Amino acid sequence: MPPTHEVFNQPPALTGYDVSDDPAMLSALRREGGAWAQEAVRDLGRLAGSAQAQAQGRQANENPPVLRTHDRFGHRIDEVEFHPAWHELMTVAVQHGLHAAPWTDKRPGAHVARAAGFYVWGAVDAGHCCPVSMTYAIVPALRHAPDLARRFEPLLAAQYYDAGLRPPDTKRGLLAGMSMTEKQGGSDVRANTTRAVPVQGDGEAGGGSYLLTGHKWFTSAPMGDLFMVLAQAPAGLSCFLLPRVRPDGSRNGMHLQRLKDKLGNRSNASAEVEYDQALAWLVGEEGRGVRTIIEMVNMTRLDCVLGTATGMRAALTLAAHHAAHRTAFGRKLADQPLMASVLADLAIESEATTMAAFRLAGAADRAAGGDEAEAAFRRLALAATKYWACKRAPGHAAEALECLGGNGYVEESGMPRLYREAPLASIWEGSGNVAALDALRALTRQPESAEAFFAELDLAAGADSRLDQAVGRLRKELSDPSEARARYLAEGMALALQGALLVRHGAPAVADAFVASRLADGSGEFRGWGHAYGTLPSGTDTAAVIRRATPDI
Ligand SMILES: Cc1cc2nc3c(=O)[nH]c(=O)nc-3n(C[C@H](O)[C@H](O)[C@H](O)COP(=O)(O)OP(=O)(O)OC[C@H]3O[C@@H](n4cnc5c(N)ncnc54)[C@H](O)[C@@H]3O)c2cc1C
Repeated sequence: MPPTHEVFNQPPALTGYDVSDDPAMLSALRREGGAWAQEAVRDLGRLAGSAQAQAQGRQANENPPVLRTHDRFGHRIDEVEFHPAWHELMTVAVQHGLHAAPWTDKRPGAHVARAAGFYVWGAVDAGHCCPVSMTYAIVPALRHAPDLARRFEPLLAAQYYDAGLRPPDTKRGLLAGMSMTEKQGGSDVRANTTRAVPVQGDGEAGGGSYLLTGHKWFTSAPMGDLFMVLAQAPAGLSCFLLPRVRPDGSRNGMHLQRLKDKLGNRSNASAEVEYDQALAWLVGEEGRGVRTIIEMVNMTRLDCVLGTATGMRAALTLAAHHAAHRTAFGRKLADQPLMASVLADLAIESEATTMAAFRLAGAADRAAGGDEAEAAFRRLALAATKYWACKRAPGHAAEALECLGGNGYVEESGMPRLYREAPLASIWEGSGNVAALDALRALTRQPESAEAFFAELDLAAGADSRLDQAVGRLRKELSDPSEARARYLAEGMALALQGALLVRHGAPAVADAFVASRLADGSGEFRGWGHAYGTLPSGTDTAAVIRRATPDI
């Protein structure tokens, strides 16, 4: 080896660590009712941090899915081929019940336990979490068609990954997708033009059968078995369950035109679809499609927040690890005061997002058990948090990437993948404006939701006067809920919730720095902190905050 090539002052590879070694997540898991799942989450966390899982995540992204529209003889097949690593990732996710399994698990905290598994395993690869998430999300919407739910829910919840296109009733486990967005409208789904025509006297599938014709501009995970589709029925926009393969074994009329060439999320396939007289079954009432599918959207929105928390934690961990080992100007980067401020700020953001995500997972769990106050709380808190957490993600990823200097800009570091993924959760399932407007709608039109939200903030009253003042200002601001202010108000509500959770349950150093930087009022004076990450007020115990983020290898 020539002497010029001695490698030094580079960090050791971050493999063989426990992704679940995450104090904010573990305490939230216990607090929200999932303590019984802790050991399983730790096992999955160790698997997620293994060299093998990391390699699978990389391979699944470096070898993206390929669309095969026809076989070699010219028959239409509409199949997507995945790298074996994708199937390995899916197998682990489904075996661990990160998909619909909680819906058949009666233990309190089942959804929180699943959230923790989703959070740690998602660090390996975000793309395969998409079908996992949609399978989780479809169940509450599907229950609007009790016969279909009885027939398919056990297969959706089965912890068996059964890849390949076959009639759904013949498979050992099913995966689901959603198909709403059309060329002329994604947020505005009422602009959908796909037509649903009732089948008269169809012997194959019984009553409630329709034939769907039209297109969808985005349908992810098109190798799923069942899709929740919006289409115009005689009585208006309605929700349908569409099998990829008909019960008689023939391929349904769901033709994949192209796969999207996406910024990130490259392991996952997102297709453009043409439905040509595709068989589908009505879910819920005709004309109430949005009301029905919103139940699915609510669950995927929760996963947008959880997935964002995962991405933040993953980027933070890489940054903290690098800074703990890399020396510049005679000191470890993590000990340079300005870098410590950057890392601590990233850690505070990450912990606040994780706390909110798990509070929402707890609300989903209790709402699934019939708790109406928790359902009302989730209605507003989820929309506001989806808006704000996802909005913070790209900046967080960019700043974490920069902590690695040039190495962070290189694919091998894993940072570019996290960076490319970061904007997606904000676009999907209600883009920023739509999520903020939804929070406003809940605030103004569902008083029980606003009441439950402020009752949650009240639980932290008196613990920190800066938070109390911020909540007081927020209440005043909400007296003008005009549309143009929706982002500002959603941000304010999300920050207040994060602050309240941190003050009650967070590590003192994290809570103090969060409230000081995100909520304290400068009253027009120089605030002592700025808008970029790494501008925390002086006096922040950065070392205590960073310790919680630095992986132990
Ligand atoms: C990787 C990926 C995967 C996806 N997978 C799926 C899938 O599986 N199934 C599916 O159905 N869809 C899927 N989508 C589509 C996604 O849900 C839509 O892109 C999203 O809902 C936005 O719709 P749109 O693209 O039509 O944008 P538009 O609705 O045209 O919105 C454009 C912009 O206008 C804003 N806007 C819209 N209405 C208002 C308003 N009233 N006031 C102010 N601003 C407004 C939006 O916030 C957005 O910023 C996927 C998208 C991506 C990127």
